[in-house]
Amino acid sequence: MFVALDAGQRPVTLRDHEQAKALVGDFVCPACRRPVGIRNGRVMPAHFYHLGPPCAASEPESAEHLAGKLWLMAYGQRRGFKPVLEQYYPQVRQRADVVWQQAGRALALEFQCSPISLERLAERSEGYRRLGVPVVWIMGKRYFARQPKALQAKFLAWSRRHGWHLWFLDVRADRLVLWQLAQGLLVTWYRPTASRRFRQATGPLPTKAALGVATALRHREPKAMALQAASATQHRNLAGVPWLVHAAPTGLIGLPLPEWQLRAWWLLTFDAAPDIKKAAEAAFWQRFAADRTPLVSAGALLAAVAAQWHRVLTASGAWQSTATGWQWRQPPAWYPTLEAKLAAVGREPAPTARPRNGRA
Ligand SMILES: [Zn+2]
Repeated sequence: MFVALDAGQRPVTLRDHEQAKALVGDFVCPACRRPVGIRNGRVMPAHFYHLGPPCAASEPESAEHLAGKLWLMAYGQRRGFKPVLEQYYPQVRQRADVVWQQAGRALALEFQCSPISLERLAERSEGYRRLGVPVVWIMGKRYFARQPKALQAKFLAWSRRHGWHLWFLDVRADRLVLWQLAQGLLVTWYRPTASRRFRQATGPLPTKAALGVATALRHREPKAMALQAASATQHRNLAGVPWLVHAAPTGLIGLPLPEWQLRAWWLLTFDAAPDIKKAAEAAFWQRFAADRTPLVSAGALLAAVAAQWHRVLTASGAWQSTATGWQWRQPPAWYPTLEAKLAAVGREPAPTARPRNGRA
């Protein structure tokens, strides 16, 4: 950490090696009031460290974490905020890595470089909620990946401005990175002087996804096998699951099952029903609510997946709404085999077709 209290209880912020070298006296941690020392080596910026074990308000500090906090300070300043380093909130015994202030409002930034449990993430977020301070969790390099997956699920956030999203800070590349999960991935790089936005393909194309179903069955993946068993009781073959289950997925993470599997379970539940009642349909999705996303409600996540599936069904002409729910016009076709499914491409409505207004 960069901020400690001196003998007179005044906060002292370490700024550089020279200043740190000149400091004398005893310092304590602003959170636990236990003694801290100054580490002033060559590799890391000068920083305070607990002489004993670190307290609960502190996390193990790596060079990346220290550098990231300074990066967020400088970037906040550039963006017109008044940034505060390591703001300590005694009411909840939490120390924010950086707080950006503007016009009497505060935004806490947590730069997470080390592992963190779901429970701790939820607890700390709840602390900020009690304070009335919005918090943004920003992942460090431990969490970098090419595509969103289970690793980042606990950091999944939603906002009116960004929709479903994830934040990363790549200190070495000098950029803050926003991933917006909106049927694929919209990536924004925020650099100190410029930003760049681009779309990145995610997930396999439908044909590859169809082959993936067969692969999952060949490898006897438990979730796929459970779905295959349920399909078999309806004299269907999961390898021939309708093309629509692969069409325009939300690509959301933190779900208990892959999105195509949720859709396949949905079809097994409803595709033979004469009509589909809203309440039964909503109850179907609720069964899959799982506590994997402490920053967003599991219900809201499933509602987004459900809404997108509804759009896919509507856009394909498979069903239409009624006063109480929906009824089938032409339920999507199951195929006896993977081969039959692949052979049907071209004769079917294109499986790649994206519904209009298809944003999750
Ligand atoms: Zn402490």
